[in-house]
Amino acid sequence: MSSKIKSLKYNGKWDFSPSIESLENLSIQKEYQLFINGKFQKPLAKKYFPSINPTNEQQLSSIAKAESDDVDLAVNSARAAFNGQWSEISAKERAKYIYRIARIIQEKSKELAIVETLDGGKPIRESRDIDIPLAAAHFFYYAGWADKLNYAFPNRTPKPLGVVGQIIPWNFPLMMAAWKIAPALATGNTVVLKPAESTSITALLLAEIIKEAELPPGVVNVITGDGSTGNLIVNHPDVNKIAFTGSTDVGKSIMKSISGTNKRSTMELGGKAANIIFEDAPLDQAVEGVINGIYFNQGHVCCAGSRLFIQESVYDVVIRKLKDRMQSLVVGNPLDKNTDIGAVNSKQQLATIHKYIDIGVKEGADIYQLNCELPKSGYWCPPTLFTNVSQSHSIAKEEIFGPVLAIQTFRTTQEVIDKANNTPYGLSAGVWTEKGSKAFNLAAKLKAGVIWANTYNKFDPTSPFGGYKESGHGREGGLHGLSPYLNLE
Ligand code: NAP
Ligand code: MG
Repeated sequence: MSSKIKSLKYNGKWDFSPSIESLENLSIQKEYQLFINGKFQKPLAKKYFPSINPTNEQQLSSIAKAESDDVDLAVNSARAAFNGQWSEISAKERAKYIYRIARIIQEKSKELAIVETLDGGKPIRESRDIDIPLAAAHFFYYAGWADKLNYAFPNRTPKPLGVVGQIIPWNFPLMMAAWKIAPALATGNTVVLKPAESTSITALLLAEIIKEAELPPGVVNVITGDGSTGNLIVNHPDVNKIAFTGSTDVGKSIMKSISGTNKRSTMELGGKAANIIFEDAPLDQAVEGVINGIYFNQGHVCCAGSRLFIQESVYDVVIRKLKDRMQSLVVGNPLDKNTDIGAVNSKQQLATIHKYIDIGVKEGADIYQLNCELPKSGYWCPPTLFTNVSQSHSIAKEEIFGPVLAIQTFRTTQEVIDKANNTPYGLSAGVWTEKGSKAFNLAAKLKAGVIWANTYNKFDPTSPFGGYKESGHGREGGLHGLSPYLNLE
């Protein structure tokens, strides 16, 4: 195949031979059903919606749409499993099932990575090296906790909540499913999970894995659909907890719906993270971290470092390095392992990103973009940065969820703390400095759930993740990720 494809020129700087993942042994079904009570079932109303490949706008598959009766079936099967077989199994046995899921994910990691890239548009390098290994790592990690809950919570009696409804977004489809399902199972709950409409396929492949791992029927149910399906899960009277990851607006509406009920909740919502470069920082490393922080996964990252603050004395040199590095990024076929920036997930998200880029220009900021040719079909946005930005600019205040960086400057530490905290969000932040004391000082004063020092976008199952303020409540990951799924008496 490679002889027919001429090597690609990247911005006239160097050539790479393309290295494109083969789709030869991949089988994506024409139609995917709902996974309820251990079986794949057609939706009762027989409605389906398309799943699109965002690089060429072609339909990959048809996905079942769950409506009210299907949601009932899923919740009832989760309830029956919770009252029955799942509660009778020892914690040690429960762990074995979770380990089994982790191992099968590893065995199928190549297929899962390719499907994640086809359905979502992210570079294969990311799905192969980050999404899928982290999904497996979460199952491994929480499998280890299943029979040690009494040690995790000494002198308490940890008890599962019951049926948990889990609703996830499209930016890390399989990884988000793992973040949700692994701790819920480890703590003895049963699950009804809904993936995002535009990226349902890997959650359904995970359902196949769960079937292969022979979990008792009904312990995990995966039902697909749009926001209305999510809404039905939220309002189902027999659901004990909602674990939601998504936008702050939908998070707020869910909180309104469940107020006055006994439902517990964790909310992992939006962000507008500050990445802060001090003059004493290792600047090349910092620039690499900024690029990773905002352009990773096309900026479809809740904790994306979308606001950059540069100390004035190093502003010119950082901007020069940043622009140089940006011009070497490769936008294109995400199945090519040389690609840095893949496709934007959906037409709707591309329209949102374009809207904000236009607003940035209209409000008077200076735009700079990667000078590259974008593919003719599909949804693409070149990496973009804005300078001459102030705190009041919309691009500095609102979550864009795309590859758009808003850059500001600062003189003093107190000034940057005030500016960084001047946001309704509080999910994450990054600090670049040679001085440990400065990093610790900022970590204490920045109002964000995760603060990276001299690195960015690092995830690990042992480390808790979650937000302050409008970025949500509750933590996922680590020991902290267990308690939202437990009654601790
Ligand atoms: P979204 O529109 O809020 O959707 C998230 C999920 O909720 C999807 O499965 C969606 O279904 C479903 N949904 C939509 N309306 C609903 C309703 N009324 N009731 C119940 N469920 C409903 O968010 P998104 O655009 O997919 O994802 C981007 C957002 O997620 C960003 O704001 C990002 O910051 C946030 N996010 C946060 C974290 C974190 O850990 N804090 C991680 C990743 C993403 P459909 O997709 O089918 O509409
Ligand atoms: Mg898709």
